[in-house]
Amino acid sequence: MGSPRVGILAIQGDVEAHAAAVRGVGAIPVRVLREKDLDGLAALILPGGESTTITKGMDRLGLWQPLAEFANGGRPILGTCAGAILMAREVEHHPVQTLSLIDVTARRNAYGTQVDSFAAQVDPGGADRLSGFRCVFIRAPQLRRPGPEVEVLARVAGEAVLVQQGRCLAATFHPELSEDRRVHRLLLELAD
Ligand code: GLN
Repeated sequence: MGSPRVGILAIQGDVEAHAAAVRGVGAIPVRVLREKDLDGLAALILPGGESTTITKGMDRLGLWQPLAEFANGGRPILGTCAGAILMAREVEHHPVQTLSLIDVTARRNAYGTQVDSFAAQVDPGGADRLSGFRCVFIRAPQLRRPGPEVEVLARVAGEAVLVQQGRCLAATFHPELSEDRRVHRLLLELAD
């Protein structure tokens, strides 16, 4: 079997750093800009950037339905930062359209302007597999009111920063900006 191919939605945002992280876990990054780019992918990443811009690009490229079908077909998706917003069922504070794949409410720019970028370690006592992960936050959202099917895999200062529902993951931070590849590895494990 060849290396798995992992798509990265390439409308806008942190595509190159995700591509490097995907290579780092032994998979092949594929830029996704149209429906046929999704063929044969093991998993998909929605990168951070600006969710308003990314949703406009998805409108223009007709990608809402294909991405919903990708998820419905059981293939895993990881949304990071702006991508996490697109995974949420609901958005507060400048709402945008979402794929509604994880039962949480995303609050955009929830850390305000004064601390709009920072790094912090995952709280001890959460899912052991992410203990000590150093998370980079850039104008990050918060994920609130997780529904009963949502598992919180990691918290920082008590806030959920990585959540999972089925084969969907949402991280409010930028795992591609750390050397630590545990979040990308987790995505690949979900594809098995
Ligand atoms: N603040 C951005 C938004 O609301 C997300 C920032 C990011 O992805 N780094 O879309």
